[in-house]
Amino acid sequence: MTGADHDTIVAPATAPGGAIAVVRVSGAEALAVCDRIFRGRGKLADAAGYTVRYGRIVEPSAAADPASDSGAPAERTIDDVLVTLFRAPHSYTGEDSAEISCHGSQYIVSELLRLLCRAGARMAEPGEFTVRAYLNGKMDLSQAEAVADLIASSSRAAHTLATTQLRGGYSADLEALRGRLLQLVSLLELELDFSEEEVEFADRTQLRETMEQIDARIEAMRCSFTLGNAIKQGVAVAIVGAPNAGKSTLLNRLLNEERALVSEIAGTTRDVIEERTNIDGVEFRFLDTAGIRTTEDRLERMGIERTLSSIARARIIIRLLDATQAGDSDTVPAPDFEVRRDQRLLTVMNKLDRCPGRTLPEGVLGLSAKTGEGLDTLRCALRAAVDTEALYHGDTVVSNSRHAEALTAAHDALLRALEGLHEGLPTDLLSEEIRQVIGHIGTITGRGQITPDEVLQNIFSKFCIGK
Ligand code: GDP
Repeated sequence: MTGADHDTIVAPATAPGGAIAVVRVSGAEALAVCDRIFRGRGKLADAAGYTVRYGRIVEPSAAADPASDSGAPAERTIDDVLVTLFRAPHSYTGEDSAEISCHGSQYIVSELLRLLCRAGARMAEPGEFTVRAYLNGKMDLSQAEAVADLIASSSRAAHTLATTQLRGGYSADLEALRGRLLQLVSLLELELDFSEEEVEFADRTQLRETMEQIDARIEAMRCSFTLGNAIKQGVAVAIVGAPNAGKSTLLNRLLNEERALVSEIAGTTRDVIEERTNIDGVEFRFLDTAGIRTTEDRLERMGIERTLSSIARARIIIRLLDATQAGDSDTVPAPDFEVRRDQRLLTVMNKLDRCPGRTLPEGVLGLSAKTGEGLDTLRCALRAAVDTEALYHGDTVVSNSRHAEALTAAHDALLRALEGLHEGLPTDLLSEEIRQVIGHIGTITGRGQITPDEVLQNIFSKFCIGK
C-alpha cells in the first residue's frame, strides 16, 4: 500500500493513561531491531515464538550523551519491560513481531518509539499492521474491517456482529455464493468450447433457478444491513409528542442509569453518550426531537422540520400522549406523521400517576415518566422492536455500507443476467454478466481478485495507529 511493505514498523498499541503501555513492532527485522535496544538473557532473535522475555530497554552507549560520563559512556536504561515474541507466520501480521510492555508513561513510550526508529524501524501508518495481516493472507478484507468494528463496539450486539465477521463465518457465506456463481460460469464456458456442436451444458431452466436462488441469498444479506447498521450505529429512536407530554422527562429517565455508569469512565464525551443507552445488549440512540410548538412562527417551523427529520431517520418512534389531555376515549387518534413499513411505532400514554385507574386503549403502553412506573415495560418493548434473533443464531448480518453497496451491485448485475437469460443472450455475454456478479461479491472479501490500492487506503485509513 505504501510501497514499503517490507519495512519494520512500530506503533503504540495502547491509549495513553493506563498503568502499562504496549508498543508493537512487526517486520522481517523486527526482532533484530528490538535486540539493538533490549538487554536481557539472550537475544530475542534467537527466542521461540509465543514466549515472553524480561529485560531492559536501553539507549545504546554510542548514542548516549558523551558529556554525561568521563569514562566509557554507560547505556541509559529507559525502562524494565516484558517482550512477547511472535514468529512468522504465527503472528497477527504474519511477520516476526514483538509486543513490548512497558510502564504506561508517555515519556517512556515516546523514548521507546524514538529508539526503535533509530534502530531501524519506522512509525506505522494507521491500520498498517492489519494491512499486512491482509496482504499476508492472515485475514480477508471483511475480517480486517471487523477488527475496526470490534475495537469500536459498545454493546453486546455490536460485539457479536464484529466477532462473527472476524471469525470468518461471513466470509465463508460469501465464498459459498462465489463458488456457486463460478460453477455457473464454468458450465457456460464449457458450452462455448463446444460451440460448434451446439450443445447446451447448462440447462436454461435450471440455470434460471440457480440464479434466482443465489439472488434470493444476496437479497437476504442485503436486507440484513438495516439491522446490522442499526446495531453498529445504535438503533435510532425518535420520541415525539405535544409540548409538555413528558418527552424530556422520559428521555432523562431512559438515559439516567446508563449515564451514571458511563460518566465514571474518564475522558468519555458526555455529550455523545448522554443520548445513547444500552438495553439488554443493544445500543439505542435518541434523535433530537425538540419541542414541536413555540409561539414564534419561524422557530415553530424549524422545530417541526427538525422533528419530522428525526421521525424520518428513526427506526423506532415513541409517540408520547398525555393522559391528562387525552380524554377517556377507547381509541387514540392516528398519528399526524407517516410511519413507514420499516419503522416501528410505540404509542405510550404518559402521566398515568395523574389518572389512576384509567384503562388504556388497545396496543397503548402506560407510563409515568415521573414515577418510573411502566418504564421497564417500555424498555422491553424497545428491545423487542429490534429482532436480533438472526444475529445470535449466527446468521450473516451485514453491517458495513461498503458490503451493502457491493451486494446491491451484485444484485443488479444478477438481474441483468436473468434478463439476458430470458432474452436468449448469447452464452459468452451471459457468462460475462455472471462474472460481473462474482466481481462485486469478491470486492467484499478481496479474495480472488486484485483489490485496488484506493479501496485498501479507504478501508485502513479509518483504523487507529497500532492496529
Ligand atoms: P416535553 O415538553 O414533552 O419535553 O415535556 P417535559 O418532559 O418537559 O414535561 C412537561 C411537564 O410534565 C413537566 O412539568 C414534567 O414534570 C411533567 N411530567 C412529565 N412526565 C410526567 C408524569 O409521568 N407524571 C406527571 N405527573 N408529570 C409529568
